[in-house]
Amino acid sequence: MVEKERSEFFKNLLNQKLEELLTGAGKAVVEMSSAKEEAFPDPTDRASHETDRNFLLRVKDRERKLIAKIQDALKRVDNGVYGICEICGEDISEKRLEARPVTTSCIKCKEEEEAQEKLRKGA
Ligand SMILES: [Zn+2]
Repeated sequence: MVEKERSEFFKNLLNQKLEELLTGAGKAVVEMSSAKEEAFPDPTDRASHETDRNFLLRVKDRERKLIAKIQDALKRVDNGVYGICEICGEDISEKRLEARPVTTSCIKCKEEEEAQEKLRKGA
């Protein structure tokens, strides 16, 4: 792919994911808070409501991190360094980028990182 086309392609891909996250996240919150609040007044159900809320917070937390990652990736596209491995400086394969557009390391470095993580955990 030509460099310019390549950045356009991934920029679109990233923006699309960002959009999905932002609209999806908003919808989930509205559904959660309006549907459950009055429907289950007794304490048992309120407990499960709390669990739902914790679950939602965890999801939100993960989404927030992913949103930050996507915004970082978009910045890298603008700076012309998108798709370059942060560890070894080699190009990350386009196939890997398409599957995981926010990645900052090539498959080789990622595998090494995972292997070391396993060692640290004693697995
Ligand atoms: Zn690498």
